[in-house]
Amino acid sequence: MEHFDIKSDKAAGFINQQEIIRILSYAKEHCLEKNLALEILKKAEQMQGLSAEETAVLLLNQDEQLTDQIFTLATKIKNAYYGNRVVLFAPLYLSNYCVNGCTYCPYHASNHNIPRLKMSQEQIKAEVIALQDMGHKRLALEAGEHPLYNPLSYILESIETIYSIHHQSGSIRRVNVNIAATTVENYKLLQAAKIGTYILFQETYNQKQYEKLHPHGPKANYAYHTEAMDRAMSAGIEDVGLGVLFGLHNYAYELVALLLHAKHLETKFGAGPHTISVPRLRPADGINVQNFPDALPDDLFLKIVALLRIAVPYTGIIMSTRETETIRKKSLKLGVSQISGGSKTSVGGYTANDEQTEESAQFETADNRSLDEIVGWLMQLGYIPSFCTACYGKGRQGIDFMKICKEQQIHNFCAPNALLTLEEYLQNYASSKTRYIGSMLFNAETSKLPEVQKKILFSRIKDAKNGSVKFF
Ligand code: SAM
Repeated sequence: MEHFDIKSDKAAGFINQQEIIRILSYAKEHCLEKNLALEILKKAEQMQGLSAEETAVLLLNQDEQLTDQIFTLATKIKNAYYGNRVVLFAPLYLSNYCVNGCTYCPYHASNHNIPRLKMSQEQIKAEVIALQDMGHKRLALEAGEHPLYNPLSYILESIETIYSIHHQSGSIRRVNVNIAATTVENYKLLQAAKIGTYILFQETYNQKQYEKLHPHGPKANYAYHTEAMDRAMSAGIEDVGLGVLFGLHNYAYELVALLLHAKHLETKFGAGPHTISVPRLRPADGINVQNFPDALPDDLFLKIVALLRIAVPYTGIIMSTRETETIRKKSLKLGVSQISGGSKTSVGGYTANDEQTEESAQFETADNRSLDEIVGWLMQLGYIPSFCTACYGKGRQGIDFMKICKEQQIHNFCAPNALLTLEEYLQNYASSKTRYIGSMLFNAETSKLPEVQKKILFSRIKDAKNGSVKFF
């Protein structure tokens, strides 16, 4: 039997079942000790993170006053590390052909109920232009796993197509990729194709449950899936994104394992995950959420978002349109730093609205507002919507990014950069109502900048308007 070792190359070593059970029983035993909880909170106030064990104690303590304190601290940490900027992106579904058997996903191979679609490069071009017309600059590519229909060569060709499209005033500047676990050789090819973040959700960290939910197909191999980020990082991909599909297994188990995974990557590669996504199970074709007994209620979900912000302050937290406007609003305050907007989870959904396309969707979204509405909403809440990809463009990735972020410096880069890209959005894509809200926010935010930064910002906006430099 494998022993717990955070540096281990083996899933059974760094996501060690005995260690997770030990942490959870320690937390259960001690969570009611008020002094211990307050001591942990005090440590968290230093904004350097918490261990999985400390986080589990706070999670299992259900005292309402403590939860309020956790939420207040999470907001404080969010502001210190990220300020009021929120990064925006959209998913792009390339193909829903899949050989796997994931029982919670309608793309599983034995579902003959949904149309199977795969976009040609021409269709991808049209979709990307539609996304660019909305104002998007950052995409997350999504595809089922199918060696014949969606081989890596197809993904690579699609990335090349996307980066090559220069439409009107700009282009897609960062392509993140969410595709199945693959080999070191393939990760090297993805790295060479200049992807942004490689995202792979663990779904569940509990091996037994994982194997039950993934009865066949390549994804059935728990260790291969769990060790994917090690392969990706050893292949040179600096930014990786973790995530659990909440609702598949016990939330406390998942949070502890997720934090061990983050710690493992940080210890082994010097940089923890660039992002953590917090997807929750959604209704989909043939998928009834009621049949999953571990469905996560809103209050606990929000507490998990806040605890992630406290436990890994320098890691971005991503929330998709799986969540409602209300939950997204609350989560932004507690720690979420990136959200998607105007999303379609169908293959070809940005250009076609026929029945076939709609039926190819992966799951039902809960926030169906347009990107313009979301940008306007964010600004009314006092956030700076950001389309910035400067860190990626300037090679501030992996360890370099983490170093700046841990020193709480990223904020200094981000505020002017976010405003620059917001101005780009307002001028080129926004409705008149959103532009009006934006001009007020822009003025208020620029007045907060130090004089030097303000000068640079205005001269860059002028240059961008003259076409002499790009926004990024
Ligand atoms: N095929 C890739 C893989 O195996 O990782 C890409 C994954 S898929 C396009 C993106 C994610 O959607 C999955 O990792 C899963 O967590 C999530 N997902 C699947 N079914 C879902 C559902 N019913 N509700 C919410 N999210 C779901």
